Amino acid sequence: MSDCLFCKIAAGEIPSNKVYEDETVYAFYDIAPQAPTHFLVIPKAHIGSVAEVTPENATVVAHIFAVISKVTKELGLASYRVVSNIGEQAGQSVHHLHFHVLSGRDMTWPPG
Ligand code: 5GP
Ligand code: ZN
Repeated sequence: MSDCLFCKIAAGEIPSNKVYEDETVYAFYDIAPQAPTHFLVIPKAHIGSVAEVTPENATVVAHIFAVISKVTKELGLASYRVVSNIGEQAGQSVHHLHFHVLSGRDMTWPPG
């Protein structure tokens, strides 16, 4: 999507602090971290949110979770939270599927 911020970040058109990259997935540190470690994992191909995941495009979502498992181990993160906000009321501000990975502090439940 030409006017999508995260499509541009995944394509390297807007700079970001990269955590991980392969053919289909890109991970980068959040510009406004909400925990000592806070990065985002996105598919390079545009998907608007979890609400737009279908049997046809779901393979990349499984791959994203494999990437999260691998990268958190490499970073030495034993405990972390994975979050995806869907829609305005849940707090989604960028309409390109992304999974927040937050770690390094105590977290409350339920989330606010
Ligand atoms: P959402 O609010 O949609 O769940 O998450 C979007 C996240 O993207 C926010 O945590 C926000 O700080 C982050 N973000 C927004 N713009 C940029 C940017 O230009 N670069 C980076 N690295 N993160 C961004
Ligand atoms: Zn996009």
